[in-house]
Amino acid sequence: MAANTTTIVWFRRDLRVQDNPALNAALEQARELGGTVLPVYIHAPQEEGDWSPGGAARWWQHQALASLQEALEKLGLSLLIRRGDSQQELLSITTGAGAVSVHWNRRYEPAIIKRDSGIKKTLQEAGLEVKSHNAALLWEPPSIKNGSGLPYRVFTPFWKYCLTQPTTAPYQLPQGRPICETERQQRLSGLSLSELELTPKLNWADEFKNHWDPTLAGAHEALALFTEDTVRGYGERRDIPGVQGTSRLSPYLQSGQLGPRQIWASVHQSGAANSNDGHKFLSEIAWREFAYHLLYHFPETPHKALNRAYQNFPWEPQTEHMKAWQQGLTGYPIVDAGMRELWHTGWMHNRVRMIVGSFLVKHLLQPWQSGARWFWDTLVDADLASNTMGWQWIAGCGADAAPYFRIFNPMLQGAKFDADGSYVRTWIPEIAKLPDSVIHTPWEASAAQLAAAGITLGKTYPRPVVDHKFGRERALGALKNNKEIAAAIAAAGD
Ligand code: FAD
Repeated sequence: MAANTTTIVWFRRDLRVQDNPALNAALEQARELGGTVLPVYIHAPQEEGDWSPGGAARWWQHQALASLQEALEKLGLSLLIRRGDSQQELLSITTGAGAVSVHWNRRYEPAIIKRDSGIKKTLQEAGLEVKSHNAALLWEPPSIKNGSGLPYRVFTPFWKYCLTQPTTAPYQLPQGRPICETERQQRLSGLSLSELELTPKLNWADEFKNHWDPTLAGAHEALALFTEDTVRGYGERRDIPGVQGTSRLSPYLQSGQLGPRQIWASVHQSGAANSNDGHKFLSEIAWREFAYHLLYHFPETPHKALNRAYQNFPWEPQTEHMKAWQQGLTGYPIVDAGMRELWHTGWMHNRVRMIVGSFLVKHLLQPWQSGARWFWDTLVDADLASNTMGWQWIAGCGADAAPYFRIFNPMLQGAKFDADGSYVRTWIPEIAKLPDSVIHTPWEASAAQLAAAGITLGKTYPRPVVDHKFGRERALGALKNNKEIAAAIAAAGD
């Protein structure tokens, strides 16, 4: 290759400069050849199949891209932003820049795998060198198989096997800077970040910035805070939504501002990996890996239950119930608090994700896909692999899922995990003055307690949208039907 060659790095869900193998490889190649690196971002939501990023994730993406631009500038690189068809844009950029090779980090969503394989072939046919790398996972799905050579469907053996596999240390940025942009590079036209219009037009997401620092510096601060402090007690505190007992790293992982290798290394360096708390945390990181394993091997699962017996489940879709759930107006405080935390912050505590999910699919008998879609649009950490696994787990139809007959009791869950009601009081101010004894069951409060707290049930806060006992029994009845479906499938030898 001639000197002054350009190597392209195509940024996607890996919006960081540290531990970024595609960027590293491009920088190394440029240094060897005396060439330069051109970082590129192409906005192409239409290529994500049914899962183009939702509003909250787009808000995060905007901030993450701004932060990436700054980090690249410190390396002497300027991010070229385009919008449109990724393949056409890459062809036009490589031709315009006179580039000889393209690097990117792999993604694992079914529509993206298909798109990327096509692009790889086309670019290679055009004479370009194309290299893909792993930035997103500790153990990539194709390399993990059980003793029979099949994908894992149960977490514990997956995790045990992964623990026997090596992990790679985070990639260190190579020393030295690439030479300046070539003239050809300078002539390429790009868009400004704001032209991508990623931030929602409604002012809904404005409040998110009070809860998050969506920059690369914010990602590293959150990681340091966790490994130096929050990890202690994680095993117990991770289930209490009213305290900061978890890492809140999920949106940084989702955008690729942090990679799992960095987290793994940081937990080990802090010495926490050998404690029960640290080990528990690493197993949660492995749940994310498991989610990717499932998505890769069972690509139909974002839409279809993994357990075929559930594919014809008798859901009872109902707009009013769905709306009450989305707006945090079901009358069950722990459910409503979770849904409002989601709306106001773009995030919800894991324990509460399970409670609100169970309530939706069991008490309200709404399809798990409807819940997954709402989360997709409102979570800053919306991730196809983890969201699909989470919802199928809740509905009892996925890998290693909670059995269908396990129906979370929202009152008991509230009393157990939010015993002092602090979480509920934060997100439902209109019932904050209720005493602890009825904070999770306002309908059981006496007239005097309601009056003292300024509550008129049905007006200032709703009565339960469905009776708990009724909802539970209806769900168990549906299970009976489902057993019949399962039996029918088994009898047909399917
Ligand atoms: P921590 O407890 O600090 O865990 C650290 C990291 O481990 C997380 O950031 C995450 O990457 C991973 N992790 C933890 N728990 C899980 C889990 N159950 N499944 C997969 N990975 C996990 N997570 C997402 O990142 N995106 C989603 O779209 C998503 N949707 C979900 C939907 C439902 C119905 C449920 C029950 C869970 C979902 N989760 C999702 C998983 C989990 O709730 C979040 O990862 C977690 O709450 C993020 O908070 P944290 O970073 O403080 O977690």
